Amino acid sequence: MKQVDGEKLLASLGEGVNQLRGRLTPDASMERVTWFQAGGLAELMFQPHDVDDLITFLKLLPAEVPLTVVGVGSNLLVRDGGIPGVVIRLSAKGFGQVELVGENRIRAGAICPDKHIAAMAMDNGIGGFAFYYGIPGSIGGALRMNAGANGGETSQRVIEVHAVDRQGNKHVLSKEDMGYTYRHTAASKDLIFTHAVFEGYPEDRAKIRAEMDAVRQHRETVQPIKEKTGGSTFKNPPDHSAWKLIDDAGCRGLMNGGAQMSSLHCNFMINIGHATGYDLEYLGEMVRQRVFEHAGIKLEWEIKRLGIFMPGREVKPFQGATTE
Ligand SMILES: Cc1cc2nc3c(=O)[nH]c(=O)nc-3n(C[C@H](O)[C@H](O)[C@H](O)COP(=O)(O)OP(=O)(O)OC[C@H]3O[C@@H](n4cnc5c(N)ncnc54)[C@H](O)[C@@H]3O)c2cc1C
Repeated sequence: MKQVDGEKLLASLGEGVNQLRGRLTPDASMERVTWFQAGGLAELMFQPHDVDDLITFLKLLPAEVPLTVVGVGSNLLVRDGGIPGVVIRLSAKGFGQVELVGENRIRAGAICPDKHIAAMAMDNGIGGFAFYYGIPGSIGGALRMNAGANGGETSQRVIEVHAVDRQGNKHVLSKEDMGYTYRHTAASKDLIFTHAVFEGYPEDRAKIRAEMDAVRQHRETVQPIKEKTGGSTFKNPPDHSAWKLIDDAGCRGLMNGGAQMSSLHCNFMINIGHATGYDLEYLGEMVRQRVFEHAGIKLEWEIKRLGIFMPGREVKPFQGATTE
């Protein structure tokens, strides 16, 4: 049963949509967008051609229509009832560029893969970006999540972030404005990041290459990177590793329907076949409950959960879980 109606929403936007150059897709499959390959439909997906096209669209979108932005879906769990309103997915053509803009400075579009910025930095002898080599997301996702690994994180490299708000106004944010903490930014949730400037430091290319190789080898050994997954399911609580708490609570390999806590890295949830959004989220809440019962610690979701439940298939936070 469909919970969203993209054709109706599209029709309600009127003739203004004819001036858009990007692509509008009613009832767009989010299975195709997310790494989990699970979940319902986006009521209406818009892939803007460039920043001006994005602004035109935002100015004609009524304020009451919900708006969600996604990157390449490597940290997303979409619920089976779908995502009401509009989902913005930036186009590679308009937002995928990466270029040098000064000594040790790189400018990257928000849908540029993290890997590309690592490669550009290596080619130009700029240190500080090797950690991006192992993160499969986009720069927009990295800016929102303060993505990091191997001792590096986005907050250390970013110097300027360009964004557009819900009304279509442009903003430029400094690193301080971004208010970064662990896997979090204090920047307003209604901002769509369009591109950012990053700064590294001079570094020997062979050294950077070796760091990148080490990042790749480490990932291939300890993470289920070839599976349908969303990366780390839960944030590390202060002074604890989420995977250790999950392991100690006996949840390594735990299954629910088509979802499983990976046996290789038990903070990674995987879709082992045809998991629904419900299977995945229910499993996550089972884990939170067991960890709370075992260690008295409330795990916090790192994966972003989007959209609405199918009627009768709601997942409630389990005992001890924080209200979100
Ligand atoms: C195998 C695997 C390994 C991973 N390893 C790591 C790791 O080591 N370290 C780490 O930090 N993460 C890791 N992740 C998680 C994920 O790759 C990162 O969180 C990444 O930054 C998400 O980027 P994305 O483009 O996939 O964003 P999405 O998953 O599409 O979205 C994530 C969030 O970012 C927001 N967002 C995306 N684009 C924009 C934009 N342009 N403007 C505003 N908001 C935006 C979305 O609204 C959402 O809230 C891993 C994931 C996988 C599958």
